[in-house]
Amino acid sequence: MSTAQPDYDYHNYLRMTELTMHRLLRRQLKKAGIDEATREQMKPFLEMVNEAYRGNDNDIKHLENIIEKSSQELFKANQLLKEDVQQKTLELDAANKRYETVASNIKEILFQLDQDGKFSYLNSAWTLLTGLEPEESLGKSFATIKSYINEEHEILIDSIAEGLKSEVSEVLKFKSYTGSEGWIEVSAKKVYNDQKEYTGIIGTLTNITKIKETELALKAARDQAEKASKAKDEFLSTMSHEIRTPLNAIVGISNLLLMNDILPDQMENLEGLKFSSEHLLSLINDILDFSKIESGKIEFDASEFSIHDFLLGMRKNYSYSAEEKGLLFKVKKDEELPEVLIGDITRLSQVVSNLIGNAIKFTSEGGVILDVEVMKKSKDKATIKFEIKDTGIGIPENKIDKIFEKFAQAESNTTREYGGTGLGLPICQKLLDLQGSKLNVSSVQGQGSKFWFELEFGISERFNLSTTKYIDLKPSFGAINGMVVLVAEDNKMNIRVARQFLDKWGVDFDIVLNGQEAVDQVTKRDYDLVLMDLQMPVMNGYDATRNIRAMDGPVGDIPILALTASTTITVRKEAQSVGMNDYIMKPFNPKDLYQSLKYYYDKKTTLSSE
Ligand code: ADP
Repeated sequence: MSTAQPDYDYHNYLRMTELTMHRLLRRQLKKAGIDEATREQMKPFLEMVNEAYRGNDNDIKHLENIIEKSSQELFKANQLLKEDVQQKTLELDAANKRYETVASNIKEILFQLDQDGKFSYLNSAWTLLTGLEPEESLGKSFATIKSYINEEHEILIDSIAEGLKSEVSEVLKFKSYTGSEGWIEVSAKKVYNDQKEYTGIIGTLTNITKIKETELALKAARDQAEKASKAKDEFLSTMSHEIRTPLNAIVGISNLLLMNDILPDQMENLEGLKFSSEHLLSLINDILDFSKIESGKIEFDASEFSIHDFLLGMRKNYSYSAEEKGLLFKVKKDEELPEVLIGDITRLSQVVSNLIGNAIKFTSEGGVILDVEVMKKSKDKATIKFEIKDTGIGIPENKIDKIFEKFAQAESNTTREYGGTGLGLPICQKLLDLQGSKLNVSSVQGQGSKFWFELEFGISERFNLSTTKYIDLKPSFGAINGMVVLVAEDNKMNIRVARQFLDKWGVDFDIVLNGQEAVDQVTKRDYDLVLMDLQMPVMNGYDATRNIRAMDGPVGDIPILALTASTTITVRKEAQSVGMNDYIMKPFNPKDLYQSLKYYYDKKTTLSSE
């Protein structure tokens, strides 16, 4: 604003000033009693103040505008918030109602306890157990449920009421107010607020009577089934023993008679008798084996064995039967084969023998090859393929799958022509299956068949296991002069058969009827070997062996061979664990018995002559 004198008349100027002067300034000038003259003098200053007042007015107006706008926005926001709260309240009410409907319709009791273990919430299921309305129990201690729960759980209930456990889940027996009994599952959990302060417990009580009853019924059914299966096993094992004992005699006696000089037509009858009894025996063994495999009761051994001895045994065993049919039998060995493997030689032998037996049986011209190949080899494991190939009758393509079914044979006249039970292949397949392997076959009718499988074995660090006792399998049954054997056996027929074999081979022997007599007898004479039956009255073969092994001097080391009708590993292992050297299967096979006697006698005489 200019401080220069205005170029218009004074009164007019004054009027203008009056009009343009800010009312507050005017009021203050008036209040202060400042006259016109002074005002005139202060004019430039007053004009500045006037200007400032006006500016202030503008600022206030601007601020008022802003405030007005903000308060409008605030109002709007408030309105929205209110609506939102209303909406949320409605939703919460609906949710609460829903929850209440659910909570009051479920069969589980839902409860909430405060810090003092008193009910602060209960749903209506509470009435089912106690007959009380939830309201009647609110504020009362959780321990009141003791009157419905079996006494033995009192401590648990107190510990929940006292908030001693952070989480509980237990099944308790209950008796409701109506007298109905059952099982209830109590689950409870401590709860904490945001400040991590303990505020009480929430939990459920669930009636699980139906589930528990089903569980008990299932358990009873399972126990019953186990009992039945045990009874079946016992029946099978008793039957097997009962059937094998007379069969033992039949096979033994027909073997004995065949060793005599007999007339040709008698020979034919005897061979028929021998064939039938051996067939019956293999049928019993197969059926027993199959039932054992099917009930999952089969165990696999993991012992060291010489694969070379095994193959040598196979070669010697089957060359003889092949030769009898005018066939060639060859064993092809991979050079990579380790010396000593770890695995179940009995089961391997069972599968391979079965396949070679079939190959020879179903071949009338040409031959059979057992080809053994190492497929994979690491430091301690080897996968070995066994292939059995023949030039026999072959299997029609449409019968290939059928031959793996139990009691199935490719042709209906197979049993009549070739014998057999139709159980061999299913057993082989199951045995391999249980060891994670598979039996494969390929065949062309009229040209021959090929069966093969692969098995993994451990490789032993031992280089040689000189366990072989395979000797020439066309035994001449020459006399084993000088050998003295003790036979401990209680079965009369078995004694008779053993006696006649031993007599024939010039073996001197004594017979005792139980384990105790065997223990007494071994000290009375210098025996080269003991043939020990396992099941005998007074004292069994295991205990008798333990007693003999505990004796001082050479008698404690006498070779003891178990006589057993059982093929199980458990029996063999137990026999081994009490200190028996080997076992002889009953019914006696003259070949096996002769070989074993000769092996141990030769061993002893060689040792003593060295
Ligand atoms: P089994 O030999 O006791 O009859 P298997 O289960 O061992 O029972 O064999 C089932 C059937 O498979 C035999 O009856 C035969 O028809 C057929 N078979 C098995 N091996 C051969 C083979 N090497 N050559 C021809 N047929 C075979």
